[in-house]
Amino acid sequence: MREIKGIAASDGVAIAPAFRLIEPDLSFETKTVTDVDGELNRLHTAFDDSKSELEIIKQKAKENLGDDEAEVFEAHITILSDPEMIKQIETEITEKSENAEAALKSVTDGYIQIFQGMDDNEYMQQRATDVADITKRVMSHLLGVVLPDPALINREVVIVAHDLTPSDTAQFDRKYVKGIVSDLGGRTSHSAIMSRTLEIPAVVGTETATELIAEDTNVIVSGLTGEVIIDPTEDQINDFSTKQAEYLQNKAEWKKLKTEPTTSADGVHPILAANIGTPKDLPGVLENGAEGVGLYRTEFLYMDSTELPSEDDQFEAYREVVEGMQGKPVVIRTMDIGGDKELPYLPLPEEMNPFLGYRAIRISLDQTEIFRTQLRALLRASNYGQLWIMFPMIATLDEFRRAKSVYSEEREKMIKAGQPVGDIKLGIMIEIPASAVLADKFAKEVDFMSIGTNDLIQYSMAADRGNERVSYLYQPYNPAILRLVKRVVDTCHAEGKIACMCGEMAGDQIAVPILLGMGLDEFSMSATSILKTRSLIKRLSAEKMQSLAQRAVTEADTNEEVKEMVEETLKELN
Ligand code: PEP
Ligand code: MG
Repeated sequence: MREIKGIAASDGVAIAPAFRLIEPDLSFETKTVTDVDGELNRLHTAFDDSKSELEIIKQKAKENLGDDEAEVFEAHITILSDPEMIKQIETEITEKSENAEAALKSVTDGYIQIFQGMDDNEYMQQRATDVADITKRVMSHLLGVVLPDPALINREVVIVAHDLTPSDTAQFDRKYVKGIVSDLGGRTSHSAIMSRTLEIPAVVGTETATELIAEDTNVIVSGLTGEVIIDPTEDQINDFSTKQAEYLQNKAEWKKLKTEPTTSADGVHPILAANIGTPKDLPGVLENGAEGVGLYRTEFLYMDSTELPSEDDQFEAYREVVEGMQGKPVVIRTMDIGGDKELPYLPLPEEMNPFLGYRAIRISLDQTEIFRTQLRALLRASNYGQLWIMFPMIATLDEFRRAKSVYSEEREKMIKAGQPVGDIKLGIMIEIPASAVLADKFAKEVDFMSIGTNDLIQYSMAADRGNERVSYLYQPYNPAILRLVKRVVDTCHAEGKIACMCGEMAGDQIAVPILLGMGLDEFSMSATSILKTRSLIKRLSAEKMQSLAQRAVTEADTNEEVKEMVEETLKELN
């Protein structure tokens, strides 16, 4: 038995054997071979085995994710069947008497280089990625090592990974993936956010999980406390099974609040909304009784595609969400690419500090055709419900005015062409300290503001949100952060505008009493946090929370002090 600690990233408890999702070592030695025929046989067997494996993965991906996502594996099978490429590798083996590994690498490297050289051609960039992927697969068969494949998991497991990309997480079958443990990441890294959406208990930022957890070892993951127990004793299994049962019982209690409006003990009605990444999240949103969508991260639509999504594709996705919410407000954020979210077909310049670089609204204002296409799709979808548009990473008033003017131009064009458009509210995310400080000016020009605390805290504390070494600086209750939040809420209200929050802080059970006291109008969070937050707000008096918020902002010195203040207040409720 061994215990390690990480960051509790997604609620719940899991107990299952480990599945290591780790890239194996694919290094090899270049050798001269004497048995050329034998080498050609090895090559053909590796190609055949790779193809059979891809057929199974494609089938699994179809079942778990749908036809579109399975297409990439079809493309891989096609490349593996390319007679020209196979011929070149064979020639390399026969003419140079090289081992199959070296021949494979030298031929596929050539292809990759050619595809990458065509850098303004998105299709060719994707082919380069495909060739690199199939090379890895064939190489693994030549070397006799196993490539772990999340789409192939067919038994209950806890995933153990160095880091998880959003696309790894998207491939999980929640029926089998019971828990997640990773070396890297923080509570607000995107893989952590996705594990909450999928309701998979997760502990991130353990630093040593992949070093210490062997394949198939039994693991307990507590996403409630951040504990990970490797090879637990019988007593520990019993103890955590009880905790798991308690958690599931609480969850069942919260479920009863699904159709109730959110009302504080003294009758205040804040809106509890959900954050989503794709229309596929809608069932979870409705299941958890959301009163709106407070953040639709549209960049996942761009990331799940092999090319820029067309206006029609975007329109369909936005309409599906707006219609699905049946008249409840849906806040759609324009593309927030950059930072840790990349598009293979839109190469961004290498940057020293991508989180401080060319991203989000900065790209939209620079590559306005991409922005205009998205705005047109949004304007069209606005006819199907209550759609609000929000711009990410706004730093200056000028940026907002420029974005608004592009929006107004597209809107005018559509109206002139006789196309109907709905009544859209236009807002900004407050994620950059400069815009929080200048919130009084913004409040005069926007319809609403939504505080993105994941980034606002990262930028205020100068601490990368995905780096576990500095995760102690993710301090949502630090009075410095609370003062910025209060300023935004107060300035919005002074101008009769709506104050929302869509960062993870909005669903944080210690922050919620303070935010209620500040008078936040809309709390938007992972759908799975909504019902427990509704249950908490029901027990709180907004008026009493006002004085708690006031004390937190003016009297407290530290994050810890505020946490204690809130915990004291919550104890009195019991
Ligand atoms: C935020 O920064 O708080 C936010 C909600 O946006 P994202 O997490 O997508 O950066
Ligand atoms: Mg953000």
